[in-house]
Amino acid sequence: MQAMRPEPIRGPADPLRRRLLLASLSATALTYGCNTLRAGPHFASDPFTLGVASGYPRANAVVLWTRLAPNPLQGGGMDPTPVEVDWLIAEDEGLKRPSARGTAIARADDAHSVHVEVDGLKPGRDYWYRFHAGNATSPVGRTRTAPASGESLARFRFAFGSCQQYEQGYFGAYRDMARRELDLIVHLGDYIYESSWGARHVRHHTGGIPTTLAEYRDRYALYKSDRDLQAAHAAAPWLVTWDDHEVANDYANDRSPVTQDPVQFLAMRAAAYRAWYEHMPVPASMRPKGPDATIYGRYQFGDLLDMLMLDGRQYRSHHACLTGTSASPLADCPDRGAPERSYLGAAQEQWFAGAMRNSRAQWSIVAQPTLMAEADRKPGTEHGYWMDGWDGYSASRRRTIEAMSAQPNRNALVLSGDVHAFWAADLRADFAEAKSPVVATEFVGGAITSQGASLASVANMLGKNPHLRFGRADKRGYALMTLERKRCDVEFRAVDDEKNAASAARTLANFSVEGGAPGVHLGS
Ligand code: FE
Ligand code: CA
Repeated sequence: MQAMRPEPIRGPADPLRRRLLLASLSATALTYGCNTLRAGPHFASDPFTLGVASGYPRANAVVLWTRLAPNPLQGGGMDPTPVEVDWLIAEDEGLKRPSARGTAIARADDAHSVHVEVDGLKPGRDYWYRFHAGNATSPVGRTRTAPASGESLARFRFAFGSCQQYEQGYFGAYRDMARRELDLIVHLGDYIYESSWGARHVRHHTGGIPTTLAEYRDRYALYKSDRDLQAAHAAAPWLVTWDDHEVANDYANDRSPVTQDPVQFLAMRAAAYRAWYEHMPVPASMRPKGPDATIYGRYQFGDLLDMLMLDGRQYRSHHACLTGTSASPLADCPDRGAPERSYLGAAQEQWFAGAMRNSRAQWSIVAQPTLMAEADRKPGTEHGYWMDGWDGYSASRRRTIEAMSAQPNRNALVLSGDVHAFWAADLRADFAEAKSPVVATEFVGGAITSQGASLASVANMLGKNPHLRFGRADKRGYALMTLERKRCDVEFRAVDDEKNAASAARTLANFSVEGGAPGVHLGS
């Protein structure tokens, strides 16, 4: 397919010189700063094997992403030379009326990914975009800018999901998501899994457990080679946070259960964060510096909602009550509620409290990786908590929920992942005290594919934790949230059978939350 080549109107290269070079369609190299730049490589096979994506919508801006990877599962297949990637964004699906175009440089240092921050766009409208490199043209993606910050917005609809172990199922949930014209898609972590686990695999990881940059890159490429995931990325802008499996199971800050040596673990974390950056439609400000990357932030959508994206892994205190290496349900211990321990880290906690207090939006949505509601998981009279989730940081959780009570419109909603189940919960500052007011409402949007707990375990949790209002772990899927000024509707969507590539999705349950009155209402 030969499509029109956008003429760059911005970008560093001289347009005339570029045109002449491109006209030859050869692998001509020219000197560009101190690098050698390949303007028009001839690709023998499609370099856009990982699709296109957009993210981080602002009122006038959005991030466009792609990566050149003709051989995606074995290092990408690009030689080290930087390559020009032309991009185009338009107000029409046919790309006839371009709003902006330019040229980005795909460098080996970033695995030949590009993160184009397009600005000067109109607020609250759809755009379509496409990339060209050499003789190759990418698929077209749709995106959408955020409404202007003061704009009185009547309605906003988005999807959220998490936990997509590739071997355990097909991404039918994404096919269902991609069919909808959503304002946004939010991913809450476990975008890749580092390890092979679970029952009844339908496909397989290539390579072992990644620890190096090259290995993490190949794992992202494997996941992103999935057509349904690509379709969801091409259908709407995304906001993302990470959980543990982007690096290693149950890691906390500078150590993981399998790597107690912080020097060794931080080297792994640096590699994993870097590969995450290279494969996500995130702004360049999120590019890691060694093992550190700032990915939390606030995103405004008119006056209707503020989306607060939290990082639950990078800054957290080490696990409480740990006797061996597993943070799975453990008996209580004084450490669990120690006030100096934090899930978000001091700086992010402080930022969060300020963001909540100052939120002028009708709804404040807290997007973060793990179940926030307390969940006693042991049967009978025993008590047991999952120390890797918020339950292992109960003082920090209390501060976080109390911060939500400062939201001026009393409209805080929490979105969660990690636990491979659908949950709806009332959040109280003090879960032990039935009179403690409900401050916020939590929805856990299932897992895209990762297998969940048994029916007995879910029934036990529902019985022992009255603030857990709904729970299902026998189905895979995602959630849709529709916000209006006085009302929030949530629909849990479940695929019939994630082991079947063609499986359809249907409604599992509906909920609503009334403006100004936190708490789950079952049914629509
Ligand atoms: Fe998970
Ligand atoms: Ca997790």
